[in-house]
Amino acid sequence: MFQKILIANRGEIALRVLRACKELGIQTVVVHSTADADAMHVRLADESVCIGPPPSRDSYLNIHQIVAACEITGADAVHPGYGFLSENAKFADILAAHNITFIGPSGDHIRIMGDKIEAKRTAKRLGIPVVPGSDGAVTEEKDAKRIAAEIGYPVIIKASAGGGGRGMKVARSEADLVVALQTARSEAGAAFGDDAVYIEKYLEKPRHIEIQVFGDGAGRGVHFGERDCSLQRRHQKVWEEAPSPALNAEERAHIGGVCARAIADLGYSGAGTIEFLYENGEFYFIEMNTRLQVEHPVTEAITGIDLVHEQIRVASGGGLSVRQEEIRFQGHAIECRINAEDPRTFTPSPGTITHFHTPGGLGIRVDSGVYSGYKIPPYYDSLIGKLIVHGRNRVECMMRLRRALDEFVVDGIKTTLPLFRDLVGNADIANGEYDIHWLEKYLAKED
Ligand code: ADP
Repeated sequence: MFQKILIANRGEIALRVLRACKELGIQTVVVHSTADADAMHVRLADESVCIGPPPSRDSYLNIHQIVAACEITGADAVHPGYGFLSENAKFADILAAHNITFIGPSGDHIRIMGDKIEAKRTAKRLGIPVVPGSDGAVTEEKDAKRIAAEIGYPVIIKASAGGGGRGMKVARSEADLVVALQTARSEAGAAFGDDAVYIEKYLEKPRHIEIQVFGDGAGRGVHFGERDCSLQRRHQKVWEEAPSPALNAEERAHIGGVCARAIADLGYSGAGTIEFLYENGEFYFIEMNTRLQVEHPVTEAITGIDLVHEQIRVASGGGLSVRQEEIRFQGHAIECRINAEDPRTFTPSPGTITHFHTPGGLGIRVDSGVYSGYKIPPYYDSLIGKLIVHGRNRVECMMRLRRALDEFVVDGIKTTLPLFRDLVGNADIANGEYDIHWLEKYLAKED
């Protein structure tokens, strides 16, 4: 087991990882920018190292400073959290070259999944169902027309190097397609320095359903069921739940089994998420994230398994702590992402939190690094906390969520709490009847 883990992140996820390390009796080092000197995870860590000024590129993305912090403190492993360097293959390779364990998959696996064309090809080879579309990059207009005619309109053109919902264009006819291909390529070139684009069938009303997987790096793979993350705004997840209101146990076992086998065949190590669009009973692979996700607590709630403990255990060579048949799903869990944003316009609302009171009681978990008197710096993302509620079934979970939202107080800044208070009372949400466009349509109606 590791002696000392360096946490290369900030905010609620840095605290989340720190808690897991403490439970495992592992020493912790955190790195932070000058803007985060007062952060909760910095206060609670055994050691902290200031690695630079507020801009992420000078601090949380500064590989040299982070490696230097490992060497100064004698950390033998790094947990990257999510975002920042968590899917940076070069970072994983550099740590390996310094004999420091990256708590995550190999640089090569990160690289494959970071290139969407390569990821889709790999998924297909491993028997994962993919969205019908081009086999690889498309550059010629005539090829684009032929492929689109074969799969049928509407189609979506996506950048191979894309991410965060950027670099996608929908075409509903051949006339659209010509323009969309040109704009997608030039935008991808400008945004990502790589103009490779590919085409796939555009699904009109899918749900976003993702499977949590784990590999031991030595040919074993398991799945921890799905999360439904269909409630999104601008491709950002807002509300996540497990299990999905749309899946039955048979569908879950089937797609979970396909994913676990793929992870085993790939020789993948650590946590991963295989993301799908789901429509009319069919799953279509869109991408794989090679890291821990923001919404991992809903899976922890229904399985009772600490996924960060599992990541640390696998990275240290201890293998998986559970066999597939030992992973059981109990009840229902929902996560609300609470952002420091205006709940109507979604403009960021940094500033000082004058009062912070979190709900409690059975089935309630709040993951947050903020506290009363904490000043939210304006440099980073606006997530200030996550409310995760667990109940024996979805109805109980929703009732508990409603009262937890009533108890939650954040004063001094604007937050998205009022949005969740609206959603929890909505009939479609209560019935679990929503797709990936539902929230945007709902918000447009509200205006
Ligand atoms: P990114 O890496 O930029 O997040 P994804 O491939 O994960 O890109 O897609 C982001 C979102 O775009 C999906 O969650 C979905 O809302 C939409 N999308 C992607 N592919 C399709 C498709 N074939 N049909 C319909 N919507 C799609």
